[in-house]
Amino acid sequence: MSDSKIKAPRGTFDVLGEDAAARSALEARARAILEGAGYERIETPAMEATELFARGVGASTDIVRKEMFTFEDAAGRSLTLRPEGTAPVCRAYVEHGMHKRRQPVKLWYLSSFFRHERAQAGRYRQFWQVGAEALGSEDPAVDAESIVLLATLLAELQVREVRLRLASLGSTESRSEYRERLQAHLRANEQELSEDVRSRIEDNPLRAFDSDHPGTRAVMEGAPRLLDHLSAEDAEHFAEVRALLDVAGVSYEVDSTLVRGLDYYTRTVFEFTSDALGAQSGVGGGGRYDGLVEQLGGPPTPGMGWAAGIERIMLAGEAPPTAPAPVELFVAIEHARADVRRAAFSLLSEARSAGLAAQMDLGGRSLKGQLGQAGALGARFVAIVGDGQTTLRDMQGGGQTPIATGAVVHAVLRGHHAL
Ligand code: ATP
Ligand code: MG
Repeated sequence: MSDSKIKAPRGTFDVLGEDAAARSALEARARAILEGAGYERIETPAMEATELFARGVGASTDIVRKEMFTFEDAAGRSLTLRPEGTAPVCRAYVEHGMHKRRQPVKLWYLSSFFRHERAQAGRYRQFWQVGAEALGSEDPAVDAESIVLLATLLAELQVREVRLRLASLGSTESRSEYRERLQAHLRANEQELSEDVRSRIEDNPLRAFDSDHPGTRAVMEGAPRLLDHLSAEDAEHFAEVRALLDVAGVSYEVDSTLVRGLDYYTRTVFEFTSDALGAQSGVGGGGRYDGLVEQLGGPPTPGMGWAAGIERIMLAGEAPPTAPAPVELFVAIEHARADVRRAAFSLLSEARSAGLAAQMDLGGRSLKGQLGQAGALGARFVAIVGDGQTTLRDMQGGGQTPIATGAVVHAVLRGHHAL
């Protein structure tokens, strides 16, 4: 080849082979757990108006400040590849008038997301998340159910060394009072703080809790904690969420330094981490966002949800068994002649219509090669279609018998008793 090879862009990857099979298994588990709990699948577009994330996720967040893939379409409108799923789901809730349905409306997704990040193990520019959102109820049971579902999913997928941290950020009002208290503390210790934290005292002081900078960490040790300043109502809501997690047998640590990277959270916030992951330890997290729908132009609507990273689940999980579906019938041809090939192809279609997992050779192999391929696929039966006659071979029992081509499917469906 004369030209140099083209590779997938930095921070992106192809999904194939065992990885693809493991993802399908994961998706099947997620669907069973979430749809079993009344969550319906939703898929939103890969791109949205940039305004959705600027308004929904918050202009001072890392995501909006530096991680979005934003571009203009031909008409000059600003579009962004979705960096997260909650704002798009809320947009869809408003756009489709879902507040008129019975509440809460519970939706789940498994989609890819895009963030312009420094690519490394467990951190990519296109990655997948499974997520669940429940809109329209502020019942603490919604919070607890949502958290229990993610705990169940991670347990079933055998994600190792999982820890759950939990906190409450209170309502928007108690949070803004607290913000001022925290800002005063940060200003009083400004010299010790990192450049980044100092620049965000005004617009995002809570992020200081996430800093790795030693000076900032020391200042944060002595910082006031939001959990100590919740309103009576918020404290009661949080206590009930904890009580419900207790009865569900989900263990957690209350962590007053837990703040999530998105602006929209209110009340419950949580994060699952895995100590098996090293630096990128976040497996999934979420919380309540009672003001978000309204902020996006909808009616006042409480909401609660989470998202978990598929790649990190797989990195921290025990690899699930990925045995490919067994081939029940392999259709081989005795002669490479058009009429024989057509008869075989017709048998293949008939077998599939009858619900059998069936395959035939597509590589122009000799009969010997085809039988080798059937063996490699672990085929249960092989039908060798010949010139006016067909032979059915039982690959387990070893017997074989001449059979009318039209009777093959019936015989395979009846299993080995046929031979
Ligand atoms: P982190 O602290 O690792 O940057 P985050 O707080 O940005 O995570 P969220 O926005 O809460 O993550 O997304 C939920 C989950 O999605 C994370 O816990 C993680 O498993 C996964 N995730 C987030 N960003 C990436 C990425 N760039 N590549 C792969 N997975 C990611
Ligand atoms: Mg991040």
